[in-house]
Amino acid sequence: MGLVSAKEMLEKAKAGKYAVGAFNINNLEWTKAILETAEEQKSPVMLAVSEGAGKYMGGYDVIVGMVNGMLKDLNITVPVALHLDHGSYNGAKACIEAGFSSIMFDGSSLPFEENIEKTKELVAICKEKGMSIEAEVGSIGGEEDGVVGMGECADPQECKQIADLGITMLAAGIGNIHGVYPENWPGLRFDVLDDIQKETGIMPLVLHGGTGIPDDMIKKAISLGVSKINVNTECQLVFAAATREYIEAGKDKQGKGFDPRKLLAPGAAAIKAKVKEKMEVFGSVGKA
Ligand SMILES: [Zn+2]
Repeated sequence: MGLVSAKEMLEKAKAGKYAVGAFNINNLEWTKAILETAEEQKSPVMLAVSEGAGKYMGGYDVIVGMVNGMLKDLNITVPVALHLDHGSYNGAKACIEAGFSSIMFDGSSLPFEENIEKTKELVAICKEKGMSIEAEVGSIGGEEDGVVGMGECADPQECKQIADLGITMLAAGIGNIHGVYPENWPGLRFDVLDDIQKETGIMPLVLHGGTGIPDDMIKKAISLGVSKINVNTECQLVFAAATREYIEAGKDKQGKGFDPRKLLAPGAAAIKAKVKEKMEVFGSVGKA
């Protein structure tokens, strides 16, 4: 099966009270580990690409080619969406051209009227192409690829205005932040999430900054309408730890342990285990 829009998988998730994981990819190993796990777990999945990661991998055409090739050669049968994460207006247009099946336009740092105008324009293009589109209201805290948010909570009325433009999914700040959470983090604002869901109805909501949010908070957020959860930092941390362990054990100096296929194997296995764990918490296992 080729790439699909995220619309159907997220609508099913919202109705079924579970969430689909959107896992950021950085290279071939990352992509393969996530796709293999999704297939093994019979889970729908979203592969997320930040503009920085897109540049790192050589460009959006490289990514589209790699992902489409893997869907075919690895016989992936579960629904897979290839999604631009925190896209700029120009980045979104470039990914639409390159063959992504889903985009996020992050206009949260723009004046609200401009966010509305640009989102509306991109919604029309995505509709015509059968693609899904995520918009954002109220910036999400922390730092991701140079995008720095202050972590304020979104205004439910603004959420409704953006949702009514015909987007597929909505990211709204509810006290969540990117990266590792500080010790004194007060937790998610479920009151705000509840107000947002009341205004936006069946619209699938997106939780960014999933790393380090306790599982019980994740499950509560899903019960209040979150249907897509972004996972990025957690995979990076387990990949680095597994690779460090391999090197510190001196395994790269034993036999042909320096072969990249061996050197990167523990990190890839760690990503697979983390992705499986997340799919279980999100409830998406067996839903493909
Ligand atoms: Zn994010």
